[in-house]
This record gives sequence, structure tokens and C-alpha cells, in this order.
Amino acid sequence: MGQVRLLGALRESKGRDWSDSFDGQEKDVQGVAARHRGTLVEIARDRDVSGREVHLFKRPALGPWLKKPDLYDGIAVQKIDRLTRRPVDIYLFFEWCKEHGKFLVSADGVDTRTRAGKAHAELLAMVGGWEWEAIQERNRDSRARAREAGRWHGGTVPYGYRITGGKGNWRLVPDTVPLFSTVADRRTWSPVDVLHWMIEMFLFGENGTGGWSYLRIAAWLDLHVPTSTGRGQWNHRTVKNMLRSRANLLGEDSHGNSRAKPLITMGLFQQVQREMDARARTIKPPRANANPLADVIWCPECTKKFHYLPQPDYADGTEHLGRYHCNTLNCPVKTIAAKELWEVLDAYMRLMASGVERHLLEVVPGVDYTPEINDLKVRISRLRRQDEDGDWEDDREGYRRRLGELRGKLRELEVEPVVPQSEQWTPTGETYGRFWESAALLGKGAELRRIGVKLWVDPRKPKGIGSGRINVEAPSGWLRWGLLEKPKRGNGS
Ligand SMILES: [Zn+2]
Repeated sequence: MGQVRLLGALRESKGRDWSDSFDGQEKDVQGVAARHRGTLVEIARDRDVSGREVHLFKRPALGPWLKKPDLYDGIAVQKIDRLTRRPVDIYLFFEWCKEHGKFLVSADGVDTRTRAGKAHAELLAMVGGWEWEAIQERNRDSRARAREAGRWHGGTVPYGYRITGGKGNWRLVPDTVPLFSTVADRRTWSPVDVLHWMIEMFLFGENGTGGWSYLRIAAWLDLHVPTSTGRGQWNHRTVKNMLRSRANLLGEDSHGNSRAKPLITMGLFQQVQREMDARARTIKPPRANANPLADVIWCPECTKKFHYLPQPDYADGTEHLGRYHCNTLNCPVKTIAAKELWEVLDAYMRLMASGVERHLLEVVPGVDYTPEINDLKVRISRLRRQDEDGDWEDDREGYRRRLGELRGKLRELEVEPVVPQSEQWTPTGETYGRFWESAALLGKGAELRRIGVKLWVDPRKPKGIGSGRINVEAPSGWLRWGLLEKPKRGNGS
């Protein structure tokens, strides 16, 4: 058998000076030819040709040769991706080979002349199909990449940003263009100014006189500031959403990718979130007929919570405290008057805790950038993966800039110390005796829930101490804390 004639096909992508140089490819292609005892009739060199964007059959150097299949028997490449990165071109190429009786050999083991080689090629074609999905996946990633690079792919423009640029290169930038002015202080305001003002008022208020409520901020905005759509009104919910929004304040998209310059620092953002959390924890005014002993009264028979049945006041105006009732089907435990429960609770607190100082457990918020650090690491490795897949081959500069940015941020956050959230008992300066005298029923109930008091109630048992009718269970960290670890002396106890 005579020597086979091979056409070498090299491809170098744009702006690359490593890993896919012509030198390396040519050496490998010559190796392939030697291994298959072939001669290279020609080496087609396509420089600055993206394997993704340029059709295989339209490649400046290789394209014309594919139109003259009589001049060679097969094609030799270093790796199949040097032929093309377009899966559809792989299919078309194999079809072309079949039609013209040509074959493909590569330095990484492809040889479509043998059965095994054909299977390998078919596998590659299958992989090509799979690759097709992977590439589409990558296209979605590349939209993410475009966002990361600050390009804009449509959608709602978050307040505080505006769109700039042109077709194919839209960007989100902080909107510092004056939008309106306030008459009294003759100040001009851009949307960015509005956001900064909101944060300042929310955290500190005017001249540090105490943070404003969402409602108050919304009311001010409604008087002075046009909404982003020009329609509708500012309300407390809008304000809340904006203060929570990473899109508005940090320039992120919904996947947490940065797509624009942040308007505030991460530290300030976290401070805002902590303040919002703290405000959410404060006790809301109870609704009418709220159960003062919710989560406190339990059924010993079926271990479920008792149901609260508010009752209308007596005819003479005396308040009816309501009834409690086990609602479980077929549970023999039935109804008890709330009045009886309160008598027991009052007696219990008087006996056990009147001299104990009331303490509140407070959460001291910490600082922890671990989620942000992990997020940055994920983004860095994703960026590297995209680069290995060749997604950045036409934008080396952009790749290096992006990587540098992410690494810089990572270094910045990695040196921040982690301060864990902690809890501390803060004395209120008030004894339980005094508290119990002055608190309303709802306040007393809230306190019992807080310190974990439970009442196991079985109205079938006779009234009286020790009958098992009402058992008080108090996992009394609060009590022990007051009595043992920090004894209160004197004080009439
Ligand atoms: Zn029950």
C-alpha cells in the first residue's frame, strides 16, 4: 500500500500566544502523518480564526482545500477542536468524509478508517451532540459572563442605574444624572443620591438623630422624588425592597453575579441588612383577641397545644379571660377557664421569681464574609473554566481584567476578620416581681414564651396543688441565671 496523502489543518485562535500555537500543532500533525505513514501534501494554516464563530467550510486557508478533495486522501489535525468548535460542523464534516471517501486522523487517536476509529469518531459525534448542549449551556454562561463584564442583556433596570453604550455592548452604570432638585436646600439629586440618602436616613436619621422608619422614608420620597417609572407611589414596601436589594445597591443580578459597579460597600450593605433584621424582630402590636398564652398551654394527653376561646365580657363589664380547650379529635381532655390558669401562673411567678432580675437575651450581630468569599471563588473558577473552554479567546484583555478584579476583591475580603454572632444576657434592672405587676396579659404571655414556661393542663383532675391538674414546666435557665449564678440578696426574697 502506497503512502496516504494527508492535508494538515491548523487553526490558531485570535490573540492567543500559548497552548495552541502553530508550532506545536504542526509538530503533532507531522507526528500523526509519520504514524500513519503518510505524506503531508499541504498544511493549511488558519490564523486568528475562532473555532466557534467561523464555519469550517468557510475557513480562509482550509475552506478552498475542502473543495478540492481529489488532492489528498485524509485530513490530519492535532485535536478535533482544531478542526472546529461548532458541533454542527463536526456533523457536516463527517457527512462530507462519507461522501468523498475521506478520513480524519488526529494526534489524540482519531482514525476514521478503522472500525475502532470510526466508533471513536462516532463517539466524538455523539460527544459533539452532547457538546452542543454543553455549548448552549456555555452560551448561557457567556451571557452571565457578559453580565459579569458589565454588559447589559435586557430586563428591568434597577433603580440607581442607567443603561449606556450601544448595540452589543450595553452597560449598566450608576445613575448620577440629576433627576430633580429640592427647593429649600437647592440641592440636585440623582437616583444614586436618593439611594445614599435612603440608607443614611434609615440607619442614622437626620444628623444622626435616629433611624427613620420605612414609612417615613417613603413619605418623604413620595413628596420629592419621581418613581423610576414615573407612575405609582413610593411606599414602605418599595423602600424595604430597595434596601434589601443586591441589584439596587450592589449591582448584582439575580444569580449574584456582579453586573455593574456597586453603589455602596459590602460592609455598609451588611449593616443595612442587620438593621432591617433587628427591626423585623421587634414585637408587633398584637391583634384583637390574640391568645396571650399561645405556646404556653399544652395537653398532657395528646401533647398538643390548647386552643384559645375568647369570651365576651360579663354583663357588669368585668373582663372574661376566655377559655382553653384541647381541640384534638377524641381527646378526653376538655375545657378550662383561663382565669384559673392565670391564678396559678401569678402564684408561680410570685413564689419563684419575684426577686429575680429580669434579663433579656440579646443577639450581637457578627461580621462574616464567608459567603461572599465562597461566591468569589466560585466565580473565579467559573471564569477559568470558561477560559479553558475558549470562551475568552477573542478577549484576552477582558479576561485578565475580570480575573484581576475578582482576585482583588477576594484578597480584600479574605483579610477581614470573622466576628461570630454572639448572644448576651442583658440585665433590665427590673425584678420579675415588678414586671409581673405592671405587665398586661399579652406581655406576661410573651415573657413566659420567651423563658420557655409550659403549662400541662388536665381539667379532668380535681382542683388543688399536687393533683396533676396544672403542672408548671419551666426549663428555668432564666431562673437559674438569676438565682444561682448571680444571686440577688435582700430585696425581700
Ligand atoms: Zn388533648
